Amino acid sequence: MKYAIDFVPVPTLPVAGSTEPFPVGRIYCVGRNYAEHAREMGHDPEREPPFFFMKPANAIVPDGATIPFPRATRELHHEIELVVALGKGGANIAVADALDHVWGYGVGLDMTRRDLQGEAKKMGRPWEMGKSFDDSAPCTALIPASKIGHPAKGAIWLKVNGAIKQSGDLSAMIWNVPETIAYLSGLITLQPGDLIYSGTPAGVGPVKPGDKLEGHVDGVGDLTVTYAI
Ligand code: MN
Repeated sequence: MKYAIDFVPVPTLPVAGSTEPFPVGRIYCVGRNYAEHAREMGHDPEREPPFFFMKPANAIVPDGATIPFPRATRELHHEIELVVALGKGGANIAVADALDHVWGYGVGLDMTRRDLQGEAKKMGRPWEMGKSFDDSAPCTALIPASKIGHPAKGAIWLKVNGAIKQSGDLSAMIWNVPETIAYLSGLITLQPGDLIYSGTPAGVGPVKPGDKLEGHVDGVGDLTVTYAI
């Protein structure tokens, strides 16, 4: 196939224990999916329906990377999240069938320009520029569910320069992974290759140039990224 411009390859994530990478389609993110985080953002964590926003697939950054500090922000925040990678698409997926659509899992960061997000909220505008920017979606190599199963509980934490900042448990998600997939598939048709960043526990906070971020999810893996000075 000849394209009108130079071909831009599909973004990919490595797969643990394999030479075949995982092609990344769309990136959906769940907002306020842990009660303590909803509270710290000034919201009542009642079980409202989940809500979603997106990042571009090329916002993916591999484990171990040094990331240029993003432009246009004075308040970059970390959000450590369990990443769900879909191997099968679908619309109106039932909760009971949802895990059949999951190919694997990773540990990711939903990096956020909190100042831009806050301004957008105040003005009733979309959050897009607070969330969807270059290098805003670091993620580990994916691990197939065929190897680790479907983690529903276990520690999720983030350290900045060795100090623990975020700490929670996957079981504290307001909407668990099957419920999230089912709900999202009622809004849009999911596709193989889509990633879902499943929300962050409490303790989000600032990241400065030079900071080293280390994230962990029990049974899934460890993510390390560093921001350039
Ligand atoms: Mn998030």
